[in-house]
Amino acid sequence: MRADVVVVGAGMFGSAAAKYLSRSGADVLVIGPEPPGRDVSPPLSSYSAHADEARIVRRLGWDHVWGTLDTRSADRLPALEAESGIDFFTECGSLALMGKGVRDRTREMLRLCDAVGVPVEELSEAALGREFPELGLPPVAGGVDGLLERRSAGYLNPRRMVRAQLELAARAGARRVRGAAAAVRRNGRAGAWTVEGCADGVAFRVEAEKVLVATGALINRTGALPAGAALDLQAFTEPNLLFEVSEAQLERLRTLPTIVVVDPEDAGDDNLSAYLLPPVRYPDGTWYLRLGPGMQPLVRELRTAEETLSWCAAQAVTRDQARFLRSVMRLLVPALEPVSVREACCVVDKTPTRSPYIGALDGSEGLSVVVGGNGHGARGSDEIGRLAATVVLDETWDFPLPPDVFAPKGQPLAAGADTGRPDYLTPPFGLC
Ligand SMILES: Cc1cc2nc3c(=O)[nH]c(=O)nc-3n(C[C@H](O)[C@H](O)[C@H](O)COP(=O)(O)OP(=O)(O)OC[C@H]3O[C@@H](n4cnc5c(N)ncnc54)[C@H](O)[C@@H]3O)c2cc1C
Repeated sequence: MRADVVVVGAGMFGSAAAKYLSRSGADVLVIGPEPPGRDVSPPLSSYSAHADEARIVRRLGWDHVWGTLDTRSADRLPALEAESGIDFFTECGSLALMGKGVRDRTREMLRLCDAVGVPVEELSEAALGREFPELGLPPVAGGVDGLLERRSAGYLNPRRMVRAQLELAARAGARRVRGAAAAVRRNGRAGAWTVEGCADGVAFRVEAEKVLVATGALINRTGALPAGAALDLQAFTEPNLLFEVSEAQLERLRTLPTIVVVDPEDAGDDNLSAYLLPPVRYPDGTWYLRLGPGMQPLVRELRTAEETLSWCAAQAVTRDQARFLRSVMRLLVPALEPVSVREACCVVDKTPTRSPYIGALDGSEGLSVVVGGNGHGARGSDEIGRLAATVVLDETWDFPLPPDVFAPKGQPLAAGADTGRPDYLTPPFGLC
């Protein structure tokens, strides 16, 4: 097979990039397996961070980079649904409960929203109690400020959004191989690449002028980077609990928005940062509230392929993780009487820059990467994919911040050495 551009990874970033690349007239081949259902099993390349039913959408950003990515993407979601004919967005609003200890950051975030016309309401604790009677306020030191976005905010179904992007890419001519790449190497001709892999037990080989690697959190471990290349990016366990909602409680709890708690206290596992999805209907017809943590110490780094595989395959959170998540749920929705509680084990990636990597890999002409959702890349994925296509096609950069912000960093020489506690593991962790 041949293609102008091979996109390796049919996830949130790869599917969006494939759409923009094929719309520009490039002959695009997307390589990536279907995401698993509920069970995750080897190989690691089958792990997909988008294999779920809900990801928080908001335009309020922790910083200018994410605020701009998220706003541009969120503004395009209705058009993406209409064009593809696939619905995936639920507008239920988004609430950030910001610890008063980060007031300066809160002010700056509001200033950025104001500058681009994103309406955000500030709600006091008393106003929060009136607006959301089901919501309990977490006892963050000094209290919280509520930042509420009512419009263009809520949650998206990531599986369906990927399907929508791939549908539009296919309409623009993109082809798809439902398999995994096992090796990406130069093919001997200057700037050209060979991608080899396996689909349904059958080996394939593609020659391409350009390759975009979009293989997500496990990019350093699934064989889609050229031999010897690795990115400075860490993978972490992302433990979630899903609380089954009874019919009796469903109507009242459905009035909740998506919620994120930002607790700035450096209190180890007692830090209360977390995120909560309102009741979402899963494919088995059951409604669940889904809760996840911030980057407390109980969120462990996945240092080896073996550790990662057993985390993904077992789908069992640790006792500490379960205890933490149950206690936060009691704080946030005190009246909840779950019918059952299910565990879900996912993986998130973190870059030292806190921004995604979008750009060419040093010394690998014609090979670019787009990765580093930092645990909240779904909502900005359309713009992230568009920027990746801009880089691959060498088109004019039209983002308000320079491309350097997204420059991929190779793994530091001292990988494995103790380089101190990275910024993203120090509260406040930001907005998930
Ligand atoms: C539990 C959880 C909660 C989250 N909550 C939010 C949220 O509320 N809001 C938000 O915006 N974001 C959220 N995120 C983050 C968001 O889902 C990710 O940032 C986003 O999915 C990243 O997109 P990606 O394309 O990099 O990775 P993915 O979506 O994981 O896609 C990567 C794809 O590459 C494929 N692949 C891997 N190796 C190979 C290979 N060798 N060959 C071919 N294909 C390969 C994988 O199968 C996968 O399909 C959450 C993530 C998790 C895990």
